[in-house]
Amino acid sequence: NARAKGGGKFEMYEHGTAAKTLERILLENELRKSISLGHFNLDYQPKVDLKTGDLMGVEALVRWNHPDLGRIPPDKFIPVAEETKLILPLGEWIIHEACKQARKWQDADFAPVRIAINISAIQLKEPGIVEAIKRILVETGVTSERIEIELTESAFADRSGMQDVIQEIRDLGITIAIDDFGTGYSTFSYIKELPADTLKIDRAFIGDIHENEESRAIVKAILAVAGTVGLRVIAEGIECEEQAAILHEYGCEEGQGYFYSRPTTPDKCVSFMKRVYE
Ligand code: C2E
Ligand code: MG
Ligand code: MG
Ligand code: MG
Repeated sequence: NARAKGGGKFEMYEHGTAAKTLERILLENELRKSISLGHFNLDYQPKVDLKTGDLMGVEALVRWNHPDLGRIPPDKFIPVAEETKLILPLGEWIIHEACKQARKWQDADFAPVRIAINISAIQLKEPGIVEAIKRILVETGVTSERIEIELTESAFADRSGMQDVIQEIRDLGITIAIDDFGTGYSTFSYIKELPADTLKIDRAFIGDIHENEESRAIVKAILAVAGTVGLRVIAEGIECEEQAAILHEYGCEEGQGYFYSRPTTPDKCVSFMKRVYE
């Protein structure tokens, strides 16, 4: 560290850590306040059947609306929330909020639209997470078949009992998706052991699929392996018709991205549902 090397403050600046530390402290304090004041909401992004365009589900995405700092993107504050464990109260609020929404759609008979909830590996490791999920299902009265959980590969890569926890969640009737697939640690050789139902192909391979031979090869390979081991596949980050067409041609069943809809309000999702169901 800087002090040990005799560099003092100057060296800290040189490495850019002081500015980072300040920002982190600022965000941590503001996060703490905003959690108690409820300055968050969930947006929902549709997932569609690539063949029919039918709505298959939605993904809940947390939004932080800071009164002075404005909208701070999750990629910026989720890592801070994880480091400070603030992801635990925030994550619990997110599950509760998403389940409340799922219950509303359950009552309105919008079947069978699943709400997918992103859960951080830190949250998953917390003892009692399965009990917390069970309790929230009971409190909100939502049936588990309306809930999906998205976990990144790192949650599966951790072999210290995490796979058992994931399986317990699955045993409740909640489906599990592996988020951002292809960018993390998973190797094809152990996909078959993972307690999951769906693979979400990372948008890194979708964004240039119409103009990059390598991305096409990777997506084809993922689809082939997933088919062999019985996992469903969804492609994230579809931004144009060309990408959607290629994915459909390759046999990918489901997709999500700005081409269909940006993350939006529950009300706008409802108009999407009505188009399909009425
Ligand atoms: P993710 O779970 O992989 O979510 C997909 C991200 O891609 C979202 O960004 C979404 O708005 C964005 N996206 C969707 N379609 C497109 C597209 O066509 N093009 C492009 N360029 N982007 C697209 P967002 O909402 O900023 O979230 C970023 C990440 O933050 C998420 O990645 C997830 O890892 C994390 N996150 C978001 N909400 C939550 C949450 O409620 N809990 C936890 N633990 N993490 C969350
Ligand atoms: Mg996700
Ligand atoms: Mg993703
Ligand atoms: Mg992501």
